[in-house]
Amino acid sequence: RAKSTGKSSHLFYDVSMEDEGLDRLTLENDLRKAMDNNELVLFYQPQVDTHSGKVVGAEALLRWQHPEQGLIPPFRFIPLAEEMGLIGEMGDWVIREACRQVKAFEDRGIHLPKVAVNVSALQFTPSFTRRVKAMLDEIGVDPSVLELELTEGVVMGDTSASIKALAELRDLGVSLSIDDFGTGYSSLSYLSRFPLDELKIDRSFVIGATSSPEDASLVRAIVAMAKGLGLKLVAEGVETDQQYAFMTDEGAHVIQGYMFSKPVSAEELEPLLAPWHFLEQIKQLETRLQR
Ligand code: C2E
Ligand code: MG
Ligand code: MG
Ligand code: MG
Repeated sequence: RAKSTGKSSHLFYDVSMEDEGLDRLTLENDLRKAMDNNELVLFYQPQVDTHSGKVVGAEALLRWQHPEQGLIPPFRFIPLAEEMGLIGEMGDWVIREACRQVKAFEDRGIHLPKVAVNVSALQFTPSFTRRVKAMLDEIGVDPSVLELELTEGVVMGDTSASIKALAELRDLGVSLSIDDFGTGYSSLSYLSRFPLDELKIDRSFVIGATSSPEDASLVRAIVAMAKGLGLKLVAEGVETDQQYAFMTDEGAHVIQGYMFSKPVSAEELEPLLAPWHFLEQIKQLETRLQR
C-alpha cells in the first residue's frame, strides 16, 4: 500500500486502481487452485433444430464456482488463465468433462447427439489432436459426440499448419465449427480450404439483422455460403420472435439462444433433451408469427 509522501507520482494514485490490482491478484491466486479444488463447472446451452424441435447439440460453457465470489463468468477468468499459462490444462479439462457428461447421459439412456467445446488459440498446440484422442479413448465415447469450436483467429494464423491439424482432428471423427463467424478476418477463399463442418453466426449479426440492412445482407451471404460449402449453421444468441423469424426464414434453422434456453447445469439440461420439450414452444412461436 502506497504511503502518502506527497510526491507527484501519487497524484495519479487512485483507490479504484488499487482495488482492481488486488482483485486481480486474488483472482489469479485463486484460479491456480480452482481446478484442484473442483471449482470449475460446465453449463450447457441447447442448440435446437426448429424443424424437428429436437436438441441437436449443446455448447459447453465454462463457469467458475468461486467459494466467496459465487459463479464467475468466463470473460473474467479465461483471459487470465490464458495469460497465466493455465488454459491448456483448463481447456483439456473442459473437453474431458463435456465428454464424460455425454457418456453419463448415454449410460442412463439419455441421448445428447453432440457437445460443442470452445478451444482457445493457446490450447491449439501441435499435441492437441493426440490429447483429444487420448481423452476420447479414456472416456470411451464415440468421437462424433465431440465438436470443437474454433474462432477464425485460431485457424487463420498459420494456414497450412492448421489445415493439417484440422484434418487430423476430422480424421479422428470429431467435428469442427467456426465460432463467432463474421467477426474475424477470415478470407472466403481460405474458408473453403479448411475441413469444417459448421459455422456459427455471431450474435452481433443476429442482433443487427432485424435492424440493419447491412447485417441482414451479411447474414444472407453467410447462409448462402454455408449452403454452398455444405456446412451446417447455428444462429447464436437468438432472443426475440423477430430474430427467430429472420434466421429461420433465411434458412438458419438451428438456434442457440436465450429464446430457447440460457446455459444451464447438466441436471437442468436433462429434461430439455426430451424430444418433445421445445415442440410446443415452436408451435406457439409459429402461430404468433402467423406462419
Ligand atoms: P461463445 O463461445 O461465443 O459462447 C456463446 C456466449 O453467448 C455464451 O456466453 C452464451 O451464454 C451467450 N449467449 C447465448 N445465447 C445468448 C442470448 O440469447 N443472449 C445473450 N445475451 N447471450 C447469449 P458465456 O457463457 O458467458 O461465454 C462467453 C465466451 O467465453 C464464449 O463465447 C467463449 O468464447 C468463452 N468460453 C466459454 N467457455 C469456454 C471454454 O471452456 N473455453 C474457452 N477457451 N472459452 C470459453
Ligand atoms: Mg462457442
Ligand atoms: Mg460464439
Ligand atoms: Mg463469443
